[in-house]
Amino acid sequence: MLTRPCWVEINTRNFEQNYSFLSTLASPQVELLAVVKANAYGHELKICAPAVVRAGARWLGVTSVEEGIEARRLCPESRILVIGMAQGQSNEIVRHQLTAVVWDNWQFDELEAAARAQDVRSVPVHLEIDTGMSRQGAEPGSLAPLLERFHRGSPLRLEGVMTHLFAADEADEQNTNAQLERMETALKQIQSAGMQPETLNIGNSAALLAGQAIKISALAGRYGMNTLIRPGLALYGLVPQFDPDFSSDEPASLGQARIHLHPVLTWKTRVVSVKSVPTGAVIGYNGTFVATEPLRLALIAVGYADGLDRRLGNHFSLLVRGRRAPLVGRVSMDQSVIDITDIPGVATGDEVVLIGQQGGEAISAFDHAKAAGTIPWEIFTRIAARVPRIAT
Ligand SMILES: *Cc1c(COP(=O)(O)O)cnc(C)c1O
Repeated sequence: MLTRPCWVEINTRNFEQNYSFLSTLASPQVELLAVVKANAYGHELKICAPAVVRAGARWLGVTSVEEGIEARRLCPESRILVIGMAQGQSNEIVRHQLTAVVWDNWQFDELEAAARAQDVRSVPVHLEIDTGMSRQGAEPGSLAPLLERFHRGSPLRLEGVMTHLFAADEADEQNTNAQLERMETALKQIQSAGMQPETLNIGNSAALLAGQAIKISALAGRYGMNTLIRPGLALYGLVPQFDPDFSSDEPASLGQARIHLHPVLTWKTRVVSVKSVPTGAVIGYNGTFVATEPLRLALIAVGYADGLDRRLGNHFSLLVRGRRAPLVGRVSMDQSVIDITDIPGVATGDEVVLIGQQGGEAISAFDHAKAAGTIPWEIFTRIAARVPRIAT
């Protein structure tokens, strides 16, 4: 093998089944948009986009136009929502039939110009409302000037109205309810302006698993709209952690998700060499670990340049021969060392699991996140591009 032995395996069957499970959970009136931004959360767009389309997804969601173009090449028939368009990209959006999320005048200017230049008569867009996150979106109280831009002569067509929930992973629904109220204010204005968008586009994995689809589709129903919910993390098999959590009155959907969602990604490396060191041996940069007894050590081909957080040195264990082997000393750029003293038989070439199952043990992206002081989204997305993703 010409590459370093550090790779990711993507279980496409689990990915497809996760999508199917989430669709049944969402109830028949609710459609799902599969979020495949950031190279499918590090799982690789090339593998994941066609897989989720096979599983029945009609909509894909990406952040950038670059990703949108790649998704279009992979999935010629899909609807592709570009959540974060930037300046100068409208020609490509129109050319590749991507659906832009819009909220600012320059986006209307650019998209109209691109549609006219390409002689495209109707370009569907989703209007984002800032219902409380202050990230992107129009103010719900002052939509009139933007709505006027969908006048008869414009090639832009208001297909969807969208917002992003910033606290769907809080069992206390106060923030979400306030956001939905602001959305209702916006929908009233849109209705009074005589417009009838088809789709209400709200909610992430946490919203879906916490059962918010009911509230969202009720809101959509009051305005004659369909509902589109946008799960990401759950598709990749992780159940978001709720904080504060639900304690005893957890929604049934969350319990079902724990049973039916299965992680898609396994991250592996191999033992490159094994050695014994005496008491007093210093391990890794700056000697942060000193052997207090004779140890057996295995050198493994993974480092922080692969995305293994440097903070995990001396604070985490990986799996080899189905057992937990502590990372000793600092994580280096391309290599790390694990303590295999208590694990008999470890040899050069043995597989080491960073994320995934081996024997009866498992390590999740949540485990990495906790040790690194971050969230699983970041753990997944910073597994380096040089680590090959292999569909299994
Ligand atoms: C990333 C993202 C999602 C998906 O969020 P998850 O928590 O991973 O389900 C949904 N909507 C928007 C706008 C996003 O940026």
